[in-house]
Amino acid sequence: MLIHLSSWPEIDARLNTTKTVVVPIGSNEQHGPTGLLGTDWLCPEIIAHAAEKQDESLVVAPTFNIGMAQHHLAFAGTISLRPSTFMAAITDWVSSLSRHGFERIYFLNGHGGNVATIEATFAEIYAEWSFVEEQPPFVLKLKNWWDLPGVHSFCTKMFPTGHGMHATPSEIAVTQAAYPELVKTADLDPKIAPVGPIRDALDYRARFPDGRIGSDPLQASPEKGQQIIDVAVPALLRDVADFSAEALP
Ligand SMILES: [Zn+2]
Repeated sequence: MLIHLSSWPEIDARLNTTKTVVVPIGSNEQHGPTGLLGTDWLCPEIIAHAAEKQDESLVVAPTFNIGMAQHHLAFAGTISLRPSTFMAAITDWVSSLSRHGFERIYFLNGHGGNVATIEATFAEIYAEWSFVEEQPPFVLKLKNWWDLPGVHSFCTKMFPTGHGMHATPSEIAVTQAAYPELVKTADLDPKIAPVGPIRDALDYRARFPDGRIGSDPLQASPEKGQQIIDVAVPALLRDVADFSAEALP
């Protein structure tokens, strides 16, 4: 059940049988000359929506599609939040979902740059309850889609060279599977992008002129992306089921 394509009575009724909700979360940022700007929110959305198609009992929230992308701001189309804005927004999403009765909130993340801030947000939220010696009415979980069991090893086996860290062939392949009409090409020089530290936007643009880090995204194809989705979907359904069944003190 997708929240944004449901009515409130439908969600109200579903809360009688499930207290778990999956929130795809990512970032809208440059992904090299061939990658879609939405790659990091599209990947978790594509995987979560495919999982919901297989198991309609899965409740999926709208995608939280803007995140920590200040270092990509020297590339057109990138939109970033400050960490403080991101934390405030996540907190309000959690409060809204909790208010309706969702007790287990599972963030499926598509952007490595979000991880530290999402974890800091969880700590901020939990601290409010710890200080007053009460249990929060919800538990939170963060999972990167590539960390779902079996996915990362599958991707690195599929792309033994030029997988890299940003604009990877695996994430671009996942978007190509969902949007094959949007497959793009470009002359990439060098074929495999350089690697280095991530700092501010101008430093990033100078080190990684076309936006990629360590990757050769031209290895991506819609067929390969579908294979990755086919590994990720059952892994997500299992992980969410385990989270829902986890005994709480
Ligand atoms: Zn990405």
